[in-house]
Amino acid sequence: MHPDRLPGHPHIAYAGDELFVEMIPLSALAQQYGTPLFAYSKASMLAALAAYQQGFSGRQVQICYAMKANSTLAIIQLFAHAGCGFDVVSLGEMQRVLVAGGLASRIIFSGVGKTRAEMHAALEAGVGCFNVESEAELEVLNEVALNLGLQAPVSIRVNPNVDPQTHPYISTGLKGNKFGIAHEHVVQTYQRAAALPGLKVQGIDCHIGSQITQESPYLDAMDRMLDLVEAIEAAGVPIHHIDMGGGLGIEYQGETPPEAAVLWRKLLAKLDARGFGDRPLMIEPGRSLVGNAGVCVTEVLYLKPGEQKNFCIVDAAMNDLPRPAMYQAYHQIVPLKPRDTTPETWEVVGPICESGDWIGHDRDLSVAQGDLLAVMSAGAYCMSMASNYNTRNRAAEVLVDGSQAHLIRAREGYADQMRQERLIT
Ligand SMILES: *Cc1c(COP(=O)(O)O)cnc(C)c1O
Repeated sequence: MHPDRLPGHPHIAYAGDELFVEMIPLSALAQQYGTPLFAYSKASMLAALAAYQQGFSGRQVQICYAMKANSTLAIIQLFAHAGCGFDVVSLGEMQRVLVAGGLASRIIFSGVGKTRAEMHAALEAGVGCFNVESEAELEVLNEVALNLGLQAPVSIRVNPNVDPQTHPYISTGLKGNKFGIAHEHVVQTYQRAAALPGLKVQGIDCHIGSQITQESPYLDAMDRMLDLVEAIEAAGVPIHHIDMGGGLGIEYQGETPPEAAVLWRKLLAKLDARGFGDRPLMIEPGRSLVGNAGVCVTEVLYLKPGEQKNFCIVDAAMNDLPRPAMYQAYHQIVPLKPRDTTPETWEVVGPICESGDWIGHDRDLSVAQGDLLAVMSAGAYCMSMASNYNTRNRAAEVLVDGSQAHLIRAREGYADQMRQERLIT
């Protein structure tokens, strides 16, 4: 039984009776590298980026990949080569960009809790912009910059108070969220920033949430942002760039998010209509660049049919795929080699000692012990959120480019996990 349709780009698809990533059967990768294994399609990532680039053609825009979605070095390297900047939320992420060959000047440093040490290191490296999230942070950044004899380029993250209509844990642009500055305080915050000698006001930014599947929250947020730009500039503070954040959703299970190119054509039309057509833009997409470019291959360890539920126990777990446990998220689960037998309904679960360790509820699958399954849409917020819970080694990662597979992260070993620990002597 082939599933009717797989989410995302056509680079992960069945050919004959096998699931392929580009030109390589996933079963061959599983055999070579073991499971659980993350496999990514390079073409799929570049196609997702191209959709944004098309939408922006002819405009001045910097696309900053929000690398917390997937921060593996080779993925950063790929986007750096494709011309992207990066949205980072910690010094660790900045270090990854620099190691992978990205330019500091194309880094945006976001996040509500930047430390002085992080500000210091980011200023020394020469990051392109700090997206500042509170008035207290403005004051600290000013001090750190003055101590270094530098001026910090800043943009203020505003909270446009629009409902992105997504899961509450991933909506960030509403009044009750910890992110950004409430829009009624924005003008005075800009005036304060402009008065501080260690800061140089560059832009304005927002990021309203993640896995957004409708256009209207973006269009509303854009209107609120432009209202603010008008008010800030009327108060005497020029705004160089407008950063609309990330958040565009992907298809996990039948969602129909707008295509990046289509969404941006509408947003650009709004900019033009309101007289901001030549304003430089920035965006910070994460999930939509990598989410549907990746799968996690896992082996069925045991089948455990029961009175109420049938359990399909696989070798991937919540430490590898945290989204179901964290957000009740859905990932499609499909066989690498479909069987002809009648499907049964399974709870697909991992080996971890938690009832929250599930990967899929009520899935109709024809499976046998030893089969390989692909957990789809696993390119974003999986490996970057993976942990060592239950002292499980983090999975290996492979980037597929046509008929070539590159191991981009070797499977972790137990010695790696215990390296920093000390017995008491
Ligand atoms: C997480 C995040 C993004 C990316 O969000 P996606 O939903 O993955 O596109 C962009 N900007 C900021 C500030 C973020 O925190």
